[in-house]
Amino acid sequence: MKDLPVIGKDPLGRTIKDFTVMPWWGVDRKSIEWYPKINYDVCTGCGICYITCGNRVVFDWDKEMKKPVVARPYNCVVSCTTCGNLCPHDALIFPDREYMHEVIIKEKILKKAANKLKEHDLI
Ligand code: SF4
Ligand code: SF4
Repeated sequence: MKDLPVIGKDPLGRTIKDFTVMPWWGVDRKSIEWYPKINYDVCTGCGICYITCGNRVVFDWDKEMKKPVVARPYNCVVSCTTCGNLCPHDALIFPDREYMHEVIIKEKILKKAANKLKEHDLI
């Protein structure tokens, strides 16, 4: 994988990289609307999502609100839901499974997967 552009460091000292330049299955990452949205009606600002997403650094921390913000949505790993699974208040919302199934069909991912398996003599 080529070196990713570095955006800077966050307050926890973590390097923020621009993962949006990395295609997903050959598809422009920015054409896929996969990332969390925060329901601020129920988010308590516990910080678990912000701290957990330490590689992609999708969230920034708003010091006034004392809550996370989705600052780099397209840095989110397509189909990852880790922060959503950990959020104790179910405050993180992701697209539903049907959305990703549509992407798989539209972008011919099944064919790409089959080709990859064939390439390595696995099928
Ligand atoms: S884990 Fe949930 S409740 Fe905690 S800061 Fe994140 S969105 Fe808010
Ligand atoms: S789903 Fe995964 S990559 Fe995306 S913001 Fe949450 S922890 Fe980070």
